[in-house]
Amino acid sequence: MRIAVVTGGTRGIGEAISLKLQEKGRTVIANYGGNDAAAKAFSDRTGIAVRKWDVGDHQGCLDACAAIEEEHGPIDILVNNAGITRDATMMKMTWDQWDEVIRIDLSGCFNMAKAVFPNMRTRGWGRIVNVGSVNGQGGQISQVNYAAAKSGIHGFTKSLAMEGAKYGVTANAIAPGYIATEMLATIPDVVMQKIVAQIPVGRLGLPEEIARGVEFLTSDNASFVTGSTLSINGGQHMY
Ligand code: NDP
Repeated sequence: MRIAVVTGGTRGIGEAISLKLQEKGRTVIANYGGNDAAAKAFSDRTGIAVRKWDVGDHQGCLDACAAIEEEHGPIDILVNNAGITRDATMMKMTWDQWDEVIRIDLSGCFNMAKAVFPNMRTRGWGRIVNVGSVNGQGGQISQVNYAAAKSGIHGFTKSLAMEGAKYGVTANAIAPGYIATEMLATIPDVVMQKIVAQIPVGRLGLPEEIARGVEFLTSDNASFVTGSTLSINGGQHMY
């Protein structure tokens, strides 16, 4: 049975990914960063094991993955989904807002891949999916930190894919458009209406619609797919 680690796997898009992988017979371990109540409720509801650590903490990621491998076995699938926003215009953004988003959204992917990639390579099979964003592809006002981190994910994914290709380890990215989760809660209604007006499908996406893409990219069926970015965004931008 394949072992899958989903970062930020207890809420929002990550919750849907954890559930989809569980439905497909994976043993899932869902990571989270601080919301113990949400994680416990998720675990009680689904039976999925949860583990708290900060994906921005390099040693913390190495230790957590080593502990998971000891308890459950080798990690076959990594979904780097954990992410935060700290929005502000360039005029107002602080160094801390910049640094926190880069540390969690971008360095978090490196930290986790560093923990699992060597063993995947040795075993000759692995699947890594990194969750980017439509705003990493197109930029967004008040998000120089987030857009930089997310577009960094796309370059990181391609380079990792090149390094893993000969060893049966694929790395792909998913670039979600606007998806109805708590992450959007801070966006004012008037701005949300303008955003939805720019989505050809005419609505926000659902977490399950991202999870289906992750399920494909982490399956045996995706063995020839690596270094790609799957845009799931209701037609927004149409790059
Ligand atoms: P949510 O805010 O709903 O959930 C975020 C998850 O990430 C939570 O489980 C949270 O844990 C976890 N997390 C946050 N910081 C850390 C950390 N330092 N270490 C470990 N876990 C952490 O986000 P979404 O589900 O909306 O977003 C998921 C991913 O999709 C993110 O990478 C986001 O950037 C991306 N995305 C989202 C879009 C959207 O419209 N929603 C659009 C494009 C991309 P806890 O519960 O403990 O806080």
